[in-house]
Amino acid sequence: MTELISCYGCGALVKDIPGESHKYIGASAGCWEVYGEILAKEYGEYGYPETVHRLTVDTYAIQHPGKPSHQSIQSVNTHLISLNLVLEKGLEGAEATQAIRKILDYASEFVWLEPPVPNGRMTVLDVVRAKDFLEHQALVQKWARDVWNAWSVYHHIVRQLVSWCNIA
Ligand SMILES: [Zn+2]
Repeated sequence: MTELISCYGCGALVKDIPGESHKYIGASAGCWEVYGEILAKEYGEYGYPETVHRLTVDTYAIQHPGKPSHQSIQSVNTHLISLNLVLEKGLEGAEATQAIRKILDYASEFVWLEPPVPNGRMTVLDVVRAKDFLEHQALVQKWARDVWNAWSVYHHIVRQLVSWCNIA
């Protein structure tokens, strides 16, 4: 039996499997594998639900911020902005995706945001259990809010970036 370890990003108890996850997303390989299962369901049987998928990608990224680097700073800031657009401003997934493409012009304003501890309480393990699309959608929304709320100390910075960039 494979042993379980805590993902160094989200803390979820995942299989201790070898391998790298991603070059700047900071996740243990076992957690990255569960995330892959969730994405496979979204791309496959759930028929690519754009807004739910947007929340999944954004939430996973900010729950696995990695170490400070140009790419991780850009990733965390961009995904926080996207969550603000969807959760607080009610944008659809496609609209948020378009908006965050524009925001990359302002990437020089981004700074490293020290991740909160804990970085949310729900993880991919809560989401992957969904038995159908409606359950999946509800769990992703709960997970996204949970992790977004964990970053509440930075919400004012995120809102400021959104208004400066005039994207929503
Ligand atoms: Zn993780």
